[in-house]
This record gives sequence, C-alpha cells and structure tokens, in this order.
Amino acid sequence: MTTEAESQHTKDTNKPGVPHGMPVFGASGRRIIYDEDGKPCRTCNTLLDFKMVTHAQKDPKSSGSSTNPALSSTAVSAMTIPMKKAAETTQYAKDEPPDVEQLGKASWSLLHTLAARYPNEPNAEQQSDMGQFISLFAKLYPCWFCAKDFKKYIEENKPVLESQEKFGRWLCDAHNSVNVKIGKPKFDCNLWRQRWKDGWDNVDDKLKK
Ligand SMILES: Cc1cc2nc3c(=O)[nH]c(=O)nc-3n(C[C@H](O)[C@H](O)[C@H](O)COP(=O)(O)OP(=O)(O)OC[C@H]3O[C@@H](n4cnc5c(N)ncnc54)[C@H](O)[C@@H]3O)c2cc1C
Repeated sequence: MTTEAESQHTKDTNKPGVPHGMPVFGASGRRIIYDEDGKPCRTCNTLLDFKMVTHAQKDPKSSGSSTNPALSSTAVSAMTIPMKKAAETTQYAKDEPPDVEQLGKASWSLLHTLAARYPNEPNAEQQSDMGQFISLFAKLYPCWFCAKDFKKYIEENKPVLESQEKFGRWLCDAHNSVNVKIGKPKFDCNLWRQRWKDGWDNVDDKLKK
C-alpha cells in the first residue's frame, strides 16, 4: 500500500535526472539523487530515503542499525534461516552501507584528523602528498554530486598547505561551505584545534588569549 506521503512524492516526476515514475523527494524532505543508470544512489541519499525509494523499508526490529559488533537478541531473532546459520559461525552486526550522512561524518573525521596530524612545518614532499590526496579525494568521493561541488570548491579555493594551522583552517572553511550549502550552521574555525586536536579543556581560557 502506498502512503499519502509516498504518493505525494511520486506525483511530480518530470524533473531532469528523475527516472519516470520515481519520486522526486524522499521521506526526509530531501531531493532523491539518482545515478546515471536511473537507480537511486545509495551514498548520495539518506538511508531512510533510499529505503523509501527502493521500497525496501523493513520492520525496524530487523534493521540491525546497532553499532554494537555483537548481534542483539532482537536482531538474531529477526534473521532469516540462512542468516541464522551464518551467525552461528560469525558474529557480524547487520550494519548497512553508509548513507550520505554517515559517509560525510566519517569522511570529515578522517580529513580533520589528517589536518590535526599534519606537520607544523611540512616539507615540499609532505605538502605535495597532501595536495594530491585532497585532489584525489575530491575526484573519488563516493557521493558523486558531493564530489562534483567539492572538486569545484578546490579549484576555486586551492588547499593551503604551508602549515598545520593553515591547512586546518582551510579544511574548516571547506567544511563550512558544505554546511552552508546544506543548511547547517557554520562552525567557528577558531575552534578547529579543540575539536580535532587538543580537546575542549580550558577552551574558554584559550579563546580569551
Ligand atoms: C567533501 C564532502 C562533501 C559533502 N557534500 C555534501 C553535499 O553536497 N550534500 C550533502 O547532503 N552532504 C554532503 N556531505 C555530507 C555532510 O557534509 C555531512 O557530513 C552530513 O550531512 C552529516 O552531518 P553531521 O551533522 O553529522 O556533521 P558533519 O558535517 O559531518 O560534521 C562532523 C563534525 O565535524 C564538526 N564540524 C562541523 N563543521 C565543521 C567545520 N567547518 N570545521 C571543522 N569541524 C566541523 C562538528 O563537530 C560535527 O559534529 C559532504 C561530505 C563531505 C566529506
């Protein structure tokens, strides 16, 4: 049975990039992103929207979204018989492939942590390595429409790699450009070191200096 929200979402399907008969918007209110082959892009949509659009929304009891590596008793009881057999020998949590938000959060963690570990005075090779990494990251990022915009951002705002502080702030600005694009608040880049390197102890004192 189609819910009212779903039928509402499937009404306007004559948009570019939206395959015929497929929804334009997801349950989250975000636009559904489709790959070139017309299939919904798993890493460009939220899991909720992806499931809605693929009609794969399952009983939440069996969704297995737990981050606990051991299987919960609920998850185990909801398993199909073949999965039960597998679980007798292996204890895998039924984590789903990342959606756009999980992928983004994990990726920003990696990027900011790289900045936190970047040398204060990087030599030419270290600067070149990081420049190449950022460029390849933008090229290969698995959410294609995120990658497209991030590549453009990098072309217009070349990574500043002369020191840890400069790179950390450049990355913070880059992250803020995405925050603004998707309607999230900007992060105060004076605090990037506290968030990603030093921790928050005595942060008020540090800000007064
Ligand atoms: C390169 C890239 C491009 C992306 N493009 C898109 C896109 O086009 N559309 C889309 O929907 N999603 C995009 N994302 C995902 C998006 O940025 C978020 O990661 C996702 O929405 C999850 O957001 P979040 O609220 O968990 O926090 P995130 O934005 O993932 O941030 C994680 C943590 O970083 C800290 N933080 C926030 N802002 C900054 C900052 N400026 N500097 C330093 N630390 C900060 C905060 O503590 C926050 O909790 C992109 C991700 C990446 C890595």
